[in-house]
Amino acid sequence: MTRIQRLSPRLANQIAAGEVVERPASVVKEVLENSLDAGATRVDIDIEAAGCKLIRIRDNGSGIDPEDLPLALSRHATSKIASLDDLERVGSLGFRGEALASIGSVSRLTLTSNHRDGTSEGCSALCEGREMDVQLRPAPHPRGTTVEVRDLFFNTPARRKFLRTEKTEFNHLEEVVKRLALSRFDVGFTLRHNGKVIHSLAGAGSDAERQRRVAAVCGPAFMEQALFIEVERGDMRLWGWLGLPTFSRSQADLQYFFVNGRVIRDKLVAHAVKQAYRDVLYHGRHPAFVLFLELDPAQVDVNVHPGKHEVRFRDSRAVHQCIFSGLHRALADVRPAAAPTPLTTAEGLAVNTATGEIASQPGLGWGAPAAYHPTSAPLPGQSGEQLRSYAGLHPRVLSEAQTPEEVPPLGYALAQLKGIYILAENAEGLVLVDMHAAHERITYERLKAARALDAIPGQPLLVPEAIAVSEREVALAQEHADVFARLGLLVEVAGEESLLVRQIPVTLRGSDVAALVRDVLSDLAEYGSSDRIEAHMDDILSTMACHGSVRANRRLSVPEMNALLRDMEETERSGQCNHGRPTWTRMSLEELDKLFLRGR
Ligand code: ADP
Ligand code: MG
Repeated sequence: MTRIQRLSPRLANQIAAGEVVERPASVVKEVLENSLDAGATRVDIDIEAAGCKLIRIRDNGSGIDPEDLPLALSRHATSKIASLDDLERVGSLGFRGEALASIGSVSRLTLTSNHRDGTSEGCSALCEGREMDVQLRPAPHPRGTTVEVRDLFFNTPARRKFLRTEKTEFNHLEEVVKRLALSRFDVGFTLRHNGKVIHSLAGAGSDAERQRRVAAVCGPAFMEQALFIEVERGDMRLWGWLGLPTFSRSQADLQYFFVNGRVIRDKLVAHAVKQAYRDVLYHGRHPAFVLFLELDPAQVDVNVHPGKHEVRFRDSRAVHQCIFSGLHRALADVRPAAAPTPLTTAEGLAVNTATGEIASQPGLGWGAPAAYHPTSAPLPGQSGEQLRSYAGLHPRVLSEAQTPEEVPPLGYALAQLKGIYILAENAEGLVLVDMHAAHERITYERLKAARALDAIPGQPLLVPEAIAVSEREVALAQEHADVFARLGLLVEVAGEESLLVRQIPVTLRGSDVAALVRDVLSDLAEYGSSDRIEAHMDDILSTMACHGSVRANRRLSVPEMNALLRDMEETERSGQCNHGRPTWTRMSLEELDKLFLRGR
């Protein structure tokens, strides 16, 4: 064994750099965070060769006292915390005091700063990655700081080898800038790459300006299809923009979550968001969101990871509950009346082609006529009066007597197309509804609401129906008789390989009884244990809802169609079907006029 020796400062810093400085994007993150911590209101970022050649970031923040410049570049030196107490309630983005030292150990770093107003006499410190000794010289600079990082990893070839193409590295870097630009609306940012302006974002003070920034960073399509939410719960505040379920993505690439201004990736947060979208998102798709959680800094531990993109919540349950319930509530309100924009998708193709998938789902029993029973199982809170109005009392077409405000959001049915779509007319123009998808959602929400009251009302069958099943299915039906009962199903064992169905949920009357029971049995078999069945109750209800829904190719009368439209307006989450596809869309008269090149 060789003897123990102390690491040189340079080597110690380079080891630390291994954690903090992974790629040009990480340098940009650390340096920008310093600018924000210094109270800058303007930050200019100049990049060459994706940051491998040059990263120059200039801010108009507080600046650094020339005497402190060498300290700023040395490890374990910070102006942001002084005691363990401070660490428990960190308000700044930085606090570890090692970023500049780490960066300086693997690049040629110049730090130029001026901490006084009214003079342009600044001071510059150079750190060349060799011995970590810092040379100071006067340099002109307005109040604020410029950090220039050249030739990143010039002395650590192993690291350099891990760098990807210029395009990939720049994408990472741009992503960092976007995140920080979303975290601080009040700060102006410009990003230039190889002399070309990529982003120029003015400081945003008003709501409209903030929306403009989100649109600039996340794309205008996101902004057009996002809900603004703001929830307070105890001393927590959650606000931001939530992509409508129909604006889903094939990747989780448009998800920004900030905790006290710090962008984080967190399992707990991801889980809460996923739960909230569970019921409304097409399988395998990812929601888009920009959300800000604000809470007492003492409630968050930010000292979990050197990159500081993970946090630990002291009361993780409360945080989970706040996010889940806030989002769940907001998404539940996505129904025609509340949706100001048409529910078309940003990646329309992915969703449209999916219609075929659903149609070919086994056991759906297409074509079996199922009457539409709008009044069958009222949702809690629906008044009898409201329900009576479904009985065809609505005017069937828009009459002159109605003012636009009196016309319901989905208007009145005109006709049915190919047994699949309802065409309706509202105050703005044409409304198109996928009747099966819409009804499926309504049925599903009814079943859920009834289950929440612990009673899915059943309706005895006039003639009990015997169905042939396997022995295993008979055993399953026996074992889970209580589950069946709670689902509004009464199923008896009639033989070794047969069951007798005596009752099905009222909401599902008219559906194919055998197919319904078989599908529920197959769900029970799939989920296996009682625990998992409980956890997947909603999935089972969703399976059942398929059966109660009006089938394609079934003719609906105009009063039936109008009743369906009114139900959609009343039903939570009715903007999407159970599989997350849109249930309706619309075309305004203006859009139709444009289509036909008709000037008005
Ligand atoms: P930390 O941010 O964790 O304190 P850094 O190594 O990133 O550690 O920075 C060290 C110190 O240098 C900071 O605490 C701060 O006082 C000073 N500093 C760095 N960048 C700036 C800046 N842009 N403006 C003002 N001060 C800065
Ligand atoms: Mg820092």
